[in-house]
Amino acid sequence: MARTRLVAGNWKMHGSRESNRALLDRLLQEIPGMKGVECAVCVPFPYLGQVAERLAGTAIAWGAQNVSEHAQGAYTGEVSAAMLAEFGCRYVIVGHSERRQLYGESDAQVAAKFAAAQGAGLVPILCVGETLAERDAGCTEQVVDRQLQQVLNLKGKDSVSKAVVAYEPVWAIGTGKTATSDQAQEVHAHLRETLTALVGREAAEQVRIQYGGSVNAETAPRLFAEPELDGALVGGASLEAASFFRIVAAAAAAV
Ligand code: PEP
Repeated sequence: MARTRLVAGNWKMHGSRESNRALLDRLLQEIPGMKGVECAVCVPFPYLGQVAERLAGTAIAWGAQNVSEHAQGAYTGEVSAAMLAEFGCRYVIVGHSERRQLYGESDAQVAAKFAAAQGAGLVPILCVGETLAERDAGCTEQVVDRQLQQVLNLKGKDSVSKAVVAYEPVWAIGTGKTATSDQAQEVHAHLRETLTALVGREAAEQVRIQYGGSVNAETAPRLFAEPELDGALVGGASLEAASFFRIVAAAAAAV
């Protein structure tokens, strides 16, 4: 089944009202003309209003980088899924390795965030991926399966076909060490097999599996040549308009 590739930018904790305006203006000049690919930007919470206003009615979707697992209440500093929905978010990243590693998010908490996002009508981008030590120990498949399984345990199989999975090897994020296309394809194919075993072929075939980890304009074409790579989650290179739209163009060209 043909899946529309999704290239999503993760701005992390970068930006200012002025730099966002310039970046969005550039993206809007280039990206709407690219067919056969979906594009989104996941931005810091304070900029959701600005981004929603600028991107409403355009070909670029937007989203957030985190969400609370709670619906509302005394959770100082947290942002609920319903709040994100009010700002027109389509996507929200859950379980990014920086959240898991720096803020101690557990698999169970990530699963609860995934559930909260879907409950508000958002599409979670569920990040899974191994550390270098786990890869060296030959545990990559075990790690990504465990991260996926937690979500299924909580949400059941119907939830996954409506989500996006991002395979992001931790050792490749922000390091400039992109996984080789063979390494990425191998894990993506494994994830597809796991999904098939868990939710059946039809539902598994609908899930877009993005690759993330130092994707740039040079590495994108060979990554997208792999059949199981349904797009990319892009950090650093999404902050530079020319790099980002070359990545989106590579995804469109590979269709
Ligand atoms: C990310 O933040 O999800 C990411 C993949 O970052 P980078 O592209 O900078 O490695």
